[in-house]
Amino acid sequence: MTKMIKTTHRKYRLLILFVLLQICAVTALGQNSVSIRMNVDASDAARNVFHTTLTIPVKPGPLSLFYPKWIPGEHSPTGPINDMAGLRLNANGKPIPWRRDAVEMFAFYCEIPGGVSALEVAFDDVSQPATTMSARLARVKWNRLLLYPRGMSSDAVRVDASIKLPGGWKFATALPVLRERRDEIEFKEVSLTELVDSPLIAGANFRKLTLASSPLLHEMDIAADSPAALEVKPETLLGWQNLVKEANALFGARHYRSYRFLLTLSDIGGSEGLEHHESSEDGVGEKALSDPGQLIDLGDLLGHEYAHSWNGKFRRPADLTTADFEQPMHGDLLWVYEGLTEYLGKVLPARSGLWTPENFRESVAAVAAEMDNQSGRKWRPLVDTATAVQFTYSSPRAWMNYRRRVDYYFEGLLLWMETDVIIRRQSQGKLSLDDFCHKFHGGQDTGPMVRTYTFDDIVNTLNEVTPYDWRGFLNERVNVINARAPLGGITNGGWKLIYDEKPNEEVRFNEQQRRFINLSYSIGLIVNAEGMVLDVNPELPATKAGLAPGMKIVGVNGRSWSADALHDAIAATKNAAMPIELRVENGGFQENYKVDYRGGERYPHLERDTTKPDLLGEIIKPHAR
Ligand SMILES: [Zn+2]
Repeated sequence: MTKMIKTTHRKYRLLILFVLLQICAVTALGQNSVSIRMNVDASDAARNVFHTTLTIPVKPGPLSLFYPKWIPGEHSPTGPINDMAGLRLNANGKPIPWRRDAVEMFAFYCEIPGGVSALEVAFDDVSQPATTMSARLARVKWNRLLLYPRGMSSDAVRVDASIKLPGGWKFATALPVLRERRDEIEFKEVSLTELVDSPLIAGANFRKLTLASSPLLHEMDIAADSPAALEVKPETLLGWQNLVKEANALFGARHYRSYRFLLTLSDIGGSEGLEHHESSEDGVGEKALSDPGQLIDLGDLLGHEYAHSWNGKFRRPADLTTADFEQPMHGDLLWVYEGLTEYLGKVLPARSGLWTPENFRESVAAVAAEMDNQSGRKWRPLVDTATAVQFTYSSPRAWMNYRRRVDYYFEGLLLWMETDVIIRRQSQGKLSLDDFCHKFHGGQDTGPMVRTYTFDDIVNTLNEVTPYDWRGFLNERVNVINARAPLGGITNGGWKLIYDEKPNEEVRFNEQQRRFINLSYSIGLIVNAEGMVLDVNPELPATKAGLAPGMKIVGVNGRSWSADALHDAIAATKNAAMPIELRVENGGFQENYKVDYRGGERYPHLERDTTKPDLLGEIIKPHAR
């Protein structure tokens, strides 16, 4: 009771504060909207520095400016405020002193002297290396490069932006271009909402591929660290073209004027996956278009971020939709926003031919096994991993199996697969989740817009498709603690989750990419290439023997540490009755641990259950052609 009253008071205080800030902002500017000029100098991109200069119309008196804190798609207060350096305010050629708010680190105050009508704000974005740039390419995220009048809605702030690129670099963005002169581009004035939603990529090695030109332009824009990395196999291009067709068949309408996949290929420039209405930022390794494993991974990324144009950007949870970049977002419906997208992000590449049916099944098996073996699911309901989004993304690797991680993605996938299979079974194969997507995300073609929803809207739309106890079904899986993962989509879809000694292709790919060894389903351990224990499953033999994250395996059955030695020792347990003996270093001490285990190597796969129709096969059949 006391807690509730406190929360209500806090809410009122926040509301009053917000209204006061709105009034302050409007009074300071004397108007309901403001037009900011923004000049970005990206000619130092190869050194991880952007320079930005803003001209903001002001009136004499106190002024508060805000650096974007809550970034759409990141669901968290991740605006990289610590990367802002060299902040200088000037008016009529004279410096204006500023100070930061003592509590809200993203807010700045200053006093505008009489006779001043425009404030010049300049600062640098000094990115951490390997986040958004390499020596040959850059991703420009406008939210890192601006301050705006605090309290104003991002729809009411208009921005007239321009950028200067390094000599000879080419670019792509969904932002409408006004004019281009050598390396300088001026954009048409847009709202701050649209600006932040329309990042730009640029690079020395660049390629544009048209995936569809009518009725709307769909483009693959690629910046890479080398010219060779830009090579696209004909079957990959065909798969991308199919992806556009399949997504449009799935949703039935589009909510963009054109769409651009902004693909960066670099081992240095940072991995990325961020959705926007009319584009997506897809940052992968330099060899992603030639290495078979990376190419499969890219199919998932492109499918996921593209599906977000409908699920996340057009339809968005009401409490995740905010008027500016200061109001906190609520993550409780992320099992829809990210979970359904995760499911569609695997279905679409399979329907498009970017994945084989086996790629799809191996990926689903890897997800199902990981979720079913999360020991943390015994204390933490799925919804809590979403509610706690502010720290689940950055959750440490150690004890992750016990904490749970961003499970609203992966368990969300299983949940929506089960939903799809229930609709198919209830309707004797006449209807599917595609019908839900048509109703919920389709409708008429429109430009970029947001239609918010609540839990009830999900339940109601599902009931419009097929009557069922959807409220009970979702509550049971999302809000209640469940010892087992929801595997009904697999088992009622005609398949079984099994384990055998053959490595799962997705598990193997992740091992190669992240340089670790995943023994989660045998002794219950993830170790890196040097033998350092990264995570354990507290319910499996390695932890029972005494191992924990942070310990380092230095010997296996009397031999020096190597990944092969550990694999061999586990494989040998199938026939030998001896425990695995590990020599382990822990905080400067060494000890021996005996792991009592008999099962050999174990990896997850899906195996056909011929007593039931193959609904998973139906789900991933091409639908558009
Ligand atoms: Zn996503």
